[in-house]
Amino acid sequence: MKRADQLKAISHTEKWDIVIIGGGATGLGAALDAASRGFKTLCIEKTDFSKGTSSRSTKLIHGGVRYLEQGNFSMVRSALMERWFLLKNAPFTTKKIPFILPVYSWWRYIYYGFGLMLYDLLSGKFSIGKTKFLKKETVIAKIPQIRQQSLKGGIQYYDGQFDDSQICISLARTAISKGATVINHMSAENFLYEGSNISGIQLRDTLYNKIYEVRSKTVINATGVFADDLILKDNPAHHRIVTPSQGIHLVVDKQYHNSPYAMLIPKTTDGRILFAVPWHDKVVIGTTDTTAPDISEEPQATNEEIHFVLDNFNRYINTQLTSSDIKSVFTGLRPLVKMKNIQSTADLVRDHSIVVSASGLVTITGGKWTTYRKMARDVINKAIRAGNLPFRRCKTRSIKLLLGRKVAGKKAPELLHSNYPFTIDDVIYAIHHEMACTLEDILARRIRLLFLDVKAAIEVSPLVCRLLQKELDHDEMWYQSQLESFKSLAKQYLPKS
Ligand SMILES: Cc1cc2nc3c(=O)[nH]c(=O)nc-3n(C[C@H](O)[C@H](O)[C@H](O)COP(=O)(O)OP(=O)(O)OC[C@H]3O[C@@H](n4cnc5c(N)ncnc54)[C@H](O)[C@@H]3O)c2cc1C
Repeated sequence: MKRADQLKAISHTEKWDIVIIGGGATGLGAALDAASRGFKTLCIEKTDFSKGTSSRSTKLIHGGVRYLEQGNFSMVRSALMERWFLLKNAPFTTKKIPFILPVYSWWRYIYYGFGLMLYDLLSGKFSIGKTKFLKKETVIAKIPQIRQQSLKGGIQYYDGQFDDSQICISLARTAISKGATVINHMSAENFLYEGSNISGIQLRDTLYNKIYEVRSKTVINATGVFADDLILKDNPAHHRIVTPSQGIHLVVDKQYHNSPYAMLIPKTTDGRILFAVPWHDKVVIGTTDTTAPDISEEPQATNEEIHFVLDNFNRYINTQLTSSDIKSVFTGLRPLVKMKNIQSTADLVRDHSIVVSASGLVTITGGKWTTYRKMARDVINKAIRAGNLPFRRCKTRSIKLLLGRKVAGKKAPELLHSNYPFTIDDVIYAIHHEMACTLEDILARRIRLLFLDVKAAIEVSPLVCRLLQKELDHDEMWYQSQLESFKSLAKQYLPKS
């Protein structure tokens, strides 16, 4: 998977069947779907694969326990089926994980117990493990840090877990293996038209500031929370279709939740749910759901959100976390489908929506990581009609995603940092085989150090930057500016003091 090969394909292809804008879960999923149906497919990403929301999820492959309470059974059932396909097709970076929901009243014990049994029942033959009631002593044995006072017991159920950025790289790699051209650091700048129909895009290589023009039978807008920017560029009179909703996560050392079991806190002070999930030997705690103040590539967690998560988590453990325990804070924006008469973003449905503009632009928003394959199938079916392409069946149910490097790190002396398993080899591999072009690409999304431990990421940044400079033949000025911009970005992943 080399960027130079992908650039050549852009220059040498006269006309694409399908061009997809956006290299997150939705865009890369669509690229794999289209290429595996035999369409000449190009997928471009403005920054880096999964730079948007797709690297900032809670990393759960789930049906959405919360939507059961809203009575949205068909959406939960369909997501549970997708959960099964993702676990089956990407076994190297997904796994099933047991969750425990601790309960502090007998009434809730029954209520949540039957709710989670229904959750498993809805998965039918795609079940990944039975829900069961646990006694108080069992909950304490499984989650030693749980608050024990008034604890009645718990419910154990199963969901999936993954590394979101890693799956994006696997999707890109697999799409390329099926014939797609997939490239990062390439932005869609303007649409090209024949009459009133979109016939292509003007692209800009953001690393080398070079302009390309590509022609296509159909164009898909899979840019997440940025979808309205492109819709309005095509037609300034079009209504907006996205409501961004912000969610934050805190990453802390596992001593605060030293367990292979994830914990589901069923009711926060604002009536939502909160997860504490073991991930890469740390614990991810989140998330929130608030109207996003603005749409940004780097959304910022507010102090209020951070304290909300700390306070709600602290109500369930026997120690007290403070903001100085936080190793990293990462924030994402959900590209939710805009609806009328909604009081809070938490009430918005999580299903996806596809809109075809008068120009033929096909835009997809909403959904969730877990359902990316189904979203991709639906949007390619729509693009086939919009672009008058021959109908071919979706094949992705049984396509195994390709693994690149082995994820486990090696022993010293090749380690980048004594506390983490990531190695120099991992960095070199990411540069030459995973299209990593910047320091941030590596430290945020190829190895997840920025998301796991900001200080450690800053400590290793000079070494990683030197490796990049050498391997990609950049000068000293490039080295200095990369390092500076990474350090100022990294500080945004720590709570503001
Ligand atoms: C806090 C939070 C937690 C979540 N947790 C989960 C979870 O645990 N499980 C789950 O299933 N789902 C979860 N989700 C939902 C899931 O993460 C999103 O639905 C999904 O990642 C959206 O993917 P996307 O590809 O549509 O958007 P994005 O990932 O944002 O991708 C869009 C891409 O388009 C690119 N782009 C924008 N403009 C241009 C342009 N002009 N040219 C080229 N490229 C462009 C952007 O750089 C971006 O990378 C969560 C979401 C949030 C916010």
